[in-house]
Amino acid sequence: MNLNKKVTLSSLTLAAVMIAVLVAVSLLSFRQFSILAAQSQVRTAAEIIRVSLTEDMVNGVISKREGLLQRLGEVPGLKSVHVVRGSNVERQYGKGSEKEGTTDAVELKVLQNGEAYFTVDDEPANPVFRGTIPFVATSKGSPVCMQCHDVPEGTVLGAVTVTMSIDHMKDDAIFVSTIMVAAVAVFMLLMLIVLRRMVSPMITTARDVQDAVSHAIRGDFHANIQQRTNDEIGQVAQDVNKLMLFLHKGLSDIRQDVALLLKHKPAEEGNLLDTTVQMVQGLIDASQFKQAIEEDETKTEIYQRLSTALQERFDVKHFSIYEVKSSKNQMISMVVDGDLGAACHWCDPQILLRSETCRARRTGHIVDSMETPGICFAFNPPADGTGYRHICFPIMQSGMVGGVVQLVFPAEETPRIREFVPYLRVYLRETAPVLEAKRLMDTLREANLRDAMTGLHNRRFLEEYTETLVAGTQRRKTQMSILMLDLDFFKMVNDTYGHDAGDTVLKALAKVLSQSVRASDMVIRYGGEEFMIILQDTDGESAGLVAEKIRAAVEALKVQLAATVLQKTISIGYAVFPTDSDTFWQTVKYADVALYRAKETGRNRVLRFTPDMWTDEKTY
Ligand code: GH3
Ligand code: MG
Ligand code: MG
Repeated sequence: MNLNKKVTLSSLTLAAVMIAVLVAVSLLSFRQFSILAAQSQVRTAAEIIRVSLTEDMVNGVISKREGLLQRLGEVPGLKSVHVVRGSNVERQYGKGSEKEGTTDAVELKVLQNGEAYFTVDDEPANPVFRGTIPFVATSKGSPVCMQCHDVPEGTVLGAVTVTMSIDHMKDDAIFVSTIMVAAVAVFMLLMLIVLRRMVSPMITTARDVQDAVSHAIRGDFHANIQQRTNDEIGQVAQDVNKLMLFLHKGLSDIRQDVALLLKHKPAEEGNLLDTTVQMVQGLIDASQFKQAIEEDETKTEIYQRLSTALQERFDVKHFSIYEVKSSKNQMISMVVDGDLGAACHWCDPQILLRSETCRARRTGHIVDSMETPGICFAFNPPADGTGYRHICFPIMQSGMVGGVVQLVFPAEETPRIREFVPYLRVYLRETAPVLEAKRLMDTLREANLRDAMTGLHNRRFLEEYTETLVAGTQRRKTQMSILMLDLDFFKMVNDTYGHDAGDTVLKALAKVLSQSVRASDMVIRYGGEEFMIILQDTDGESAGLVAEKIRAAVEALKVQLAATVLQKTISIGYAVFPTDSDTFWQTVKYADVALYRAKETGRNRVLRFTPDMWTDEKTY
């Protein structure tokens, strides 16, 4: 119910209650007043009758009293007059005439106790008031009744019963009440008009405020509430206008700032409040994501977290994350549909070998098939997947494309994807520098673990990875062969052709060694011209074959120098972990012992460690 109706209804209710109370009170008091007035009239009539009867007695004309009583009965307002004698009067003068009628019970009672008795016969049509007044003997006044009556003072001589109609009084009461009701009704009506006039601007302003608030909830803060009065209501209108203006300006500013950060301008017709909250929330999410990845230890963890964000925050099922290899023109599939290290699935796998076939990688621009269907030839949707769309984001690192994130989704999801793309771009923007820092760290670390001249792993690498190697061998319950290699009479090369020639030979040798083993094996430059090869999951017999192959390859190697072609030989000693020793470094030592023995026994040969070689250990 609105305020206007409430005011009208409560005023009318109040008026009705007031009228009812007033009518009840006035009718009651009128009745009381009428009874008192009738009592007084009856007493007056009784007194007149008493005086007239006493006069008649004194004057000896009491026999004429009937005429008097009849005339009195005809007085307007009086209905009847009836006089009865008390027992003393009857004893002195005898009973009254028959015309005087009989004495009723009330009159008898009044004659006995000498007290006046009044009653109202509440007949609705014609209400009648009756009063029975005793005549009491007294020596006072004039004429003195005790002149004729031979009785003690205070004796009840008789009584008179007067009845009178109080019908006119009822009419008067109704008339007065009607006037009162009319007066109250007019007053209340006037009050209602005044109230409504006062409440009206209040109601209109309240409606305007309500309207402005409901617009604000829908994101429209353009309120212009008219100030209708100069009181508190007018002030409310003014304050609401100010508040809305403040909110509009504040939210617009925030939205503008956030839009700059998002590099995305939201649609103007959108809900200002909703879009602003959504945009700010998007930035907060991205900032929390950044904090999390900054504390991640490895690139893999970062890719994992990005993958989780794509699945949980953006609700994307199909996606790929690629890393661009810095040195070669290649890409690696890091995550596919949430699986770490899964094979390239949504693109032609040739992008891995020739990364420029990936359009996002080549151009450094977003590649969006929602905008331009069929834009990238490398996109490889399922055979029935004509309805699939993709959008690929390059991850820029130092002005180069360091990675590519690809989303794949059914065409009908286009509007939803479009909506969150600005937020995802913030995520990727935050990810790029963190990934770049991690890559730099990895490169530095990698450089630290490699020998600059030959590109082989160095001794530090060996120290760092020993534990992993040993644990892997033990877990797989296999053997690991350790080969120690040393060029024969290498000093001579330096001495004869110079140090640079020696370096050239070492580089050529490193290449031969790397090419002679599997990718899972490790070639380490252990010392100056001393190398170690770790053959994983290889027993002694196989290691012997590999070592022999290496020896032969080195023997066949022709190193082109400025003035000549050099050929060198190599000696190899090896031992097997955990067959020869259950500690890694002891196995290395055994391999070294075997190498020493190979040198001793003629060079350019391969020798496996045997326990008998160890007896000479003290000499090394
Ligand atoms: P052996 O057959 O007994 O091994 O004879 P060797 O002359 O090879 O003797 P040894 O292994 O002791 O010689 C090591 C030489 O290798 C000494 C050193 O000048 C040379 N050398 C070590 N590191 C380098 C390097 O980085 N470049 C060059 N050019 N020479 C190196
Ligand atoms: Mg040596
Ligand atoms: Mg040597």
